[in-house]
Amino acid sequence: MKTLYFRIVIQTILIMVLASVIAFLISNVYYHQVQKPNNGEKISQVASEIVSLYEENPDQDIDAYLNHIAGLHYQMYLFNEQGEGTLYGEPFRETSLDRDTISGVLNGNTYQGIANYNNGLFITGFFEDVLINSIGVPMDVNGEKHALFVRPNIELQFGEFRFFLAVLLVLTLLLSFLFVIINTRFIVKPITKLTEATKRIADGDYSSELNVTRSDEIGDLAQHFSKMTQSIQRLDDMRQEFVSNVSHEIQSPLASIQGFSQTLQSEELTKEQRNQYLSIIEKESRRMSSLSKQLLMLASLDKEEDPLQRSNFDLAQQIRQVLFMLEWNWREKDMVIEMDLPSTVISADEKLLNQVWTNLITNSIKYSESGSSINIRIKSIGSTVEVMIADTGMGIPVEDLPYIFDRFYKVDKVRNRSEAGSGLGLSITKKTVELHGGTIEVQSELGKGTTFYIRLPLM
Ligand code: ADP
Repeated sequence: MKTLYFRIVIQTILIMVLASVIAFLISNVYYHQVQKPNNGEKISQVASEIVSLYEENPDQDIDAYLNHIAGLHYQMYLFNEQGEGTLYGEPFRETSLDRDTISGVLNGNTYQGIANYNNGLFITGFFEDVLINSIGVPMDVNGEKHALFVRPNIELQFGEFRFFLAVLLVLTLLLSFLFVIINTRFIVKPITKLTEATKRIADGDYSSELNVTRSDEIGDLAQHFSKMTQSIQRLDDMRQEFVSNVSHEIQSPLASIQGFSQTLQSEELTKEQRNQYLSIIEKESRRMSSLSKQLLMLASLDKEEDPLQRSNFDLAQQIRQVLFMLEWNWREKDMVIEMDLPSTVISADEKLLNQVWTNLITNSIKYSESGSSINIRIKSIGSTVEVMIADTGMGIPVEDLPYIFDRFYKVDKVRNRSEAGSGLGLSITKKTVELHGGTIEVQSELGKGTTFYIRLPLM
C-alpha cells in the first residue's frame, strides 16, 4: 500500500533533488555570465606578471624560471617561433592548439582562451584541463619571440576545497533525507491515530481519547473529530433511550390488556365487571393507538427537510374550533375559559398548528383542578403573533421546567398515570413551532398555574 508516510518522504526527496539540479543550473549560468570573464581577466594579469618578471631579469635560465612558477600551481606551454612547444608543470589533458592562435600570440596579441572557452552551460568548463582553456601572452626570450600559454592548476589549487564542497553537499543531502524521514513520521502519526479511532468508533467504541495536542490543521481536525464522536455518542444514547422508552410505553398498556382479557375469560363475572374491564381494554388500546400516531408524527417531523404545507387561515378561528372540540373535557371539569382572540391571519401548516393548540389546551385541562380557569390570548407584535395559554392548574416544579419539552418526559409519573399521557405532546409541539420559525416559552409556579407563550412569524 502506498501510505501517506511513504508518499511524503518520496515527494520531499524528489523535490530536494529537483531543487538541487535547478540550483546547479542557475549557478552555472551565473558563472558564465559574471564569473568567467573575471577569471579570465585575473589569469591574464598573472600571465603578464610572469612575463614582466622574467623580462626585468632576462639573464636567468628560462627553464628554471618557468619551472619555479609551475611550482606555484600553474601549467604552462612555451612556443618558439618554429612552433615547438615546451611544457612546464603538470601535463595538460589535451594540448592541441591551432597554428593561427600561436602565431597571433607570437605577433604580440593576447589570447583569451578562458573567457571564450565554451563548455555548454556547465561550470566544470573552468576546471577543464586543456590547452585551449588558457591565457596566451607574447614573451621575449633571449631576443627571440615566444608565446607563453598559462592556466592555473585547479586540481592542485582547489583540490581540498572541491573535496570539502562535495562532502558538504553529500552530507547536507543525506542529513536532509534522514530528517525528512523522521519528521514525516511525526506529521503522519496523528492521522494514523485518527484512522484507528475511526475504526474503533465504527465498532461502537466511543470511549477512546485522541490525545492530539497540536495547534495546527491536524490538531483542528482532531478536535472536530472528538466533538463529532461526542455528538455521535449522544445520538446513540438518545436512540437507545428512545427505544427503551417506546418499549416501556407499549409494555404497560399491553400488560393491562392481557390481564383484563384473561380475567374476562372466567365465567363468574357480573355484567358490570365485564363492562368495566372492556372499557379499560378500550381505553388502553386507544392510548396505544395515540402513542403510535404521536411517534409517527415525530418521525415525519424529524425526517423531512420541510414538512410544512402552508396555507393562509385565521388563527383565532382555529383556536376557537379546538376549544369547541374539547368542550366536553373542560365542561366536565367546570372550567372557565377566558378569551381575547382578535382575528389574525397566518401563513402556516394548518393541521400541525391545530395539533399544537390541542396539545397545549388538553394539558391545561388535564393538569388543572375542577373549577379553575384557562386564559387564551392572541397578540400581534410587528410581523409575529404571540399566543398565550395560561391555566390556574397544578403548575410544574422549577427543577422539571428545563426538561418538559424532552421526549417522554413526564413531570410526575404517578400523577400522570390516570391521565395516561405519553410525554410526547410538548416535544411535538416544540418541534412544530420551531419548524415554523417560532419559539415556545413556559412560565410556571407550583400550585398556581402554568403559562405557555408561542411566538410565530405571520408570513
Ligand atoms: P403528556 O402526554 O404526559 O401530557 P407532554 O409532553 O404534553 O406529555 O407534557 C410533559 C409533562 O409536562 C407532562 O407530563 C406534565 O407533567 C407537564 N405539563 C405539561 N403541561 C402542563 C400544564 N399546563 N400544567 C402542569 N403540568 C404540565
